[in-house]
Amino acid sequence: MFCRECGKEISNEAVICVRCGVPTDVNQTDAVTRMLLPVGRSAYAIAAGYLGLVSVLLVPAPFAIIFGVLAIRDIKKNKNKHGIPRSIFGITLGALFTVFYSYLFLFSS
Ligand SMILES: [Zn+2]
Repeated sequence: MFCRECGKEISNEAVICVRCGVPTDVNQTDAVTRMLLPVGRSAYAIAAGYLGLVSVLLVPAPFAIIFGVLAIRDIKKNKNKHGIPRSIFGITLGALFTVFYSYLFLFSS
């Protein structure tokens, strides 16, 4: 979208304009709603996010990484899709718990 004040092109999820600081039409509530009810977000990013969240159960952890990588590739190919932060979140949590549980597994026996 474009800033209604200065016309600079800014991220659709931006809450204020990066150039002039004027609040965009997107308010905080909308941003939160979009986080919970993803609109236009890559399905892979959603999968990565949730798998990352449940990666405490170990099994989904490697899948969170795989889906996170798929999501970023998908988003880069489709400019109308977004969800990179969520993908990175999934990859990070997935990687963290994979390492953590591998460590526990190796040293517990
Ligand atoms: Zn502006």
